[in-house]
Amino acid sequence: MRIAVVGTGYVGLVTGTCFAETGNTVTCVDIDQVKVEKLINGQLPIYEPGLDHLFLRNLKEGRLHFTTNLEEGVKGASIIFLALPTPPGEDGSADLSYVLGVAESLGKILDTYTVVVNKSTVPVGTADKVKAAIAKNAKVEFDVVSNPEFLREGVAVDDFMKPDRVVIGTSSEAAKKLMNTLYAPYVRQGNPVIFMDERSSELTKYAANSFLAVKITFMNEIARLCERLGADVDMVRRGIGSDDRIGRRFLFPGIGYGGSCFPKDVQALVRSSEEVDYAFKILEAVMDVNTEQKTYLVPKIKRYFNDSLKGKKIALWGLAFKPNTDDIREAPALYIIDALLAEGAGITAFDPEAMKGVKKLLGDKIEFAANQYDALEGADCLVIATEWSVFRTPDFELMENRLKNKVVFDGRNVFEGALMESMGYHYESIGRQPVKGAKGK
Ligand code: NAD
Repeated sequence: MRIAVVGTGYVGLVTGTCFAETGNTVTCVDIDQVKVEKLINGQLPIYEPGLDHLFLRNLKEGRLHFTTNLEEGVKGASIIFLALPTPPGEDGSADLSYVLGVAESLGKILDTYTVVVNKSTVPVGTADKVKAAIAKNAKVEFDVVSNPEFLREGVAVDDFMKPDRVVIGTSSEAAKKLMNTLYAPYVRQGNPVIFMDERSSELTKYAANSFLAVKITFMNEIARLCERLGADVDMVRRGIGSDDRIGRRFLFPGIGYGGSCFPKDVQALVRSSEEVDYAFKILEAVMDVNTEQKTYLVPKIKRYFNDSLKGKKIALWGLAFKPNTDDIREAPALYIIDALLAEGAGITAFDPEAMKGVKKLLGDKIEFAANQYDALEGADCLVIATEWSVFRTPDFELMENRLKNKVVFDGRNVFEGALMESMGYHYESIGRQPVKGAKGK
């Protein structure tokens, strides 16, 4: 099949590459000329595990193409995917200008029946708006389909190649047939392709992300209670997670959710609800709790240093909003940095993949270390903001030699309290009792 993917970000690039992987010919279109040039030259603009191998193979074998020209990119395609940004607008609702802008242009370009598929996360009713935008100029028949994407950054290729489910919202039999054929290779193990109407499909994506945000936030509040009541959140997590109705996943407390999806999608669903006179109270509370959670460690750090961080040197491990990605959008680490800088602390950070993006954003407001141990040199304490695997079993001897004080504030519970205690650390984490080490040097 000939496919076009418009928007070559985290979703578009994975989508395009994975569709090429099953033999389709894919052209990806992006307005970012620098990005497209890089891609044509075989360079990936993002870090996503496993993507490079597939990307290079399909590029070499001529199934994957890139262009900045929309007309050239969609020529001959029977399906056009829109993987465009839908950032929060001024009032928090999704900004549809990218999606509708491209839809309008498509109307002028399409010269034969085409299925236009929206993969971006969009409010209920967007399929109708896309239809109308294309119809303004269209001379041919077309169908608009909602096909929300559920991939997770960090495991995006696996998620795309073997999705838990594929959700397709359409009322067109022709589009249904085409989508079924396209997705068949990805659901051979029997995972469902769920067909539904466009509105339900659009809402499914927001409902899924919002539910996960609720689950994370619920555990973060349980963690806060654990600290106050003398309980251990790890035990509570295991205790409830073994109940099938609750499940083991997404029960890890931490310094809040971030990324380009959960924060904006929860907010957008709250705004969509308001538009139909419904106050989505749980989600409003989730947003409030999560905002506090991102800087939850800062008062703890302050308290340890007798309420003043002026002149303190703080090592920060982790900048990405989660491990295995270079994505820093809405990363809790950025909020911690802001709060610590405002208190007069200096920061030296290390992240395996996300330093480039943060350097671009913050310039020389903080320092960056070449590796995780260099970040500790002379630091008054270590703060952990992202649970990269490489932080889990560090060389503790090296850590001890570099740190000025054996003090760790762990926002992702990567270490065991007992181990830190045995090594004489002062160690505070989320939802577990603090390990009170000796006061600093
Ligand atoms: P992104 O910002 O990484 O990528 C968007 C791309 O679109 C950019 O490369 C940008 O240059 C390009 N673009 C903007 N305007 C364009 C235009 N007029 N023509 C062509 N290209 C244009 O975004 P993303 O993270 O890939 O997300 C895309 C959509 O998918 C969003 O709606 C998002 O909510 C949703 N989504 C994201 C994820 C995720 O994990 N990132 C997962 C599921 C769904």
